[in-house]
Amino acid sequence: MCYADTATNADGTATAFCYCGWQQEHATPDAADHAAETHQRDADAAEAEFAATH
Ligand SMILES: [Zn+2]
Repeated sequence: MCYADTATNADGTATAFCYCGWQQEHATPDAADHAAETHQRDADAAEAEFAATH
């Protein structure tokens, strides 16, 4: 399971990152938040699918 978070940069952009190694730069903290949520949801869905088919 992934746990994604965000960090706001000094220049106003934001980085979304996850302990699994995933990372994305975004122009705004809101966009980074959204990307972090999406990453977490997608990762959880992939895990559930793996468990169901293996
Ligand atoms: Zn992740």
